[in-house]
Amino acid sequence: MLTNLQARDVETLIHPYTNLVAVRETGPLILERGKGVWVTDVDGKPYLEGMAGLWCTALGYGNEELVEAAAEQMRKLPFTHIFGGKSHDPAIELAEKLKEMAPVPISKVFFTCSGSEANDTQMKLVWYMNNALGRPKKKKIISRMRAYHGVTIASASLTGLAGNHNDFDLPIAGVRHTTCPHHYRLAEAGESEEDFATRLAADLEALILAEGPETVAAFIAEPVMGAGGVIVPPKTYYPKIQAVLEKYDVFFIADEVICGFGRLGTTFGSEAMEMKPDSISIAKALSSAYQPIGAVMIPEIMYEALLTESAKLGSFGHGYTYSGHPVAAAVAVKTLEIYERESIFERVRAKIPQFAARRAALEDHPLVGEARGAGLVAGIELVADKKTKHQFDPKLGVAAKTVAFCQQEGLILRNVFGDAVTICPPLVISPAEIDELFDRLTRALDRTLDWAV
Ligand code: PLP
Repeated sequence: MLTNLQARDVETLIHPYTNLVAVRETGPLILERGKGVWVTDVDGKPYLEGMAGLWCTALGYGNEELVEAAAEQMRKLPFTHIFGGKSHDPAIELAEKLKEMAPVPISKVFFTCSGSEANDTQMKLVWYMNNALGRPKKKKIISRMRAYHGVTIASASLTGLAGNHNDFDLPIAGVRHTTCPHHYRLAEAGESEEDFATRLAADLEALILAEGPETVAAFIAEPVMGAGGVIVPPKTYYPKIQAVLEKYDVFFIADEVICGFGRLGTTFGSEAMEMKPDSISIAKALSSAYQPIGAVMIPEIMYEALLTESAKLGSFGHGYTYSGHPVAAAVAVKTLEIYERESIFERVRAKIPQFAARRAALEDHPLVGEARGAGLVAGIELVADKKTKHQFDPKLGVAAKTVAFCQQEGLILRNVFGDAVTICPPLVISPAEIDELFDRLTRALDRTLDWAV
């Protein structure tokens, strides 16, 4: 029986990434407030937010400094755009700060309102750059199976998940997907991580050669895949991939929308994963999700191409009304200030051993095939048979059931791909709360086991 608020919800809202038939029966979980890593529903029940919302509320809930930064900017100047040569202080300050923090030399920053728009912009800028550089055939973008880069037409095309393509008539032309670096599922019998990485780099090279290197413009990758089920590639994967990209003059885009700003214990995931990208997409933790803001950070060679095109066409014809929105930019500036002042990333590094130990211990559970992760992000893959890695019938929805049991236990996690349960708490989670998270998850796994057998 739905509550009044739930009934009003299902009669009016389309929920993203939701089974729209099922939610009409169950109604949504309606949350009302939050503090630290905890959120509370309309009935007053608290939940540990083990996914930081959607991998994004890095500083947790109820951060008064961020609220104040937004309020102050709203009072001063709630909106002004940066089109046609206008600007404002928060956007300038944020761009300066990002250039300083970037893991590779960055020339300029372009602001968007989301991660999808950032990756869309990346694709457009790569095409634009190659036109300016006089190589109009070099336009294809290679992504990876199980990648997640967003949902706009271009970024959903880069995404390598069937659920984002089926019946949307995607991907668009010019996008290819190479092998996902998931050793547990895709390694051949006895293949070491190192050999697996070598094979994947060879797969990429074969794809580039089959397409024609003169047609391949860019390769895009999340340092650690998130929505594909949290896939951490082998240690030597990126150096091997990077060598192939350099050989064929293929631009390297890092999608740091989840890994950027401390998730792996480093400022950017690229540092932890030994990536040297040409350009970078960011969003989510850039403002700790208190405001919708994303960005692309681009190198000098790309900026020069934009200058050439501006001279030729009269203007750089791209931008969103809310590119560099002053309130979002002010909140992001404050977020970056807090990360630095409170040594948030160092403190993440101190918490990683405990998080990793609790994660690894889950592999003793009869349902858990692989408990993988890096930094403060993890993917727990449930299997019907640990020895053979045999999967459950997808129709059973085993991981979805675990997530439902978690919710009953007062823990919010997600089931994003197959039978993987994902964990990505706010970076400010305390050691006691890390234990609480894994204790609640273990109880939910035990209940799933009772239910499944
Ligand atoms: N890139 C990655 C790695 C993401 O995880 C996401 C969202 O989860 C996106 C891009 C898309 O971001 P948004 O949902 O803000 O459009």
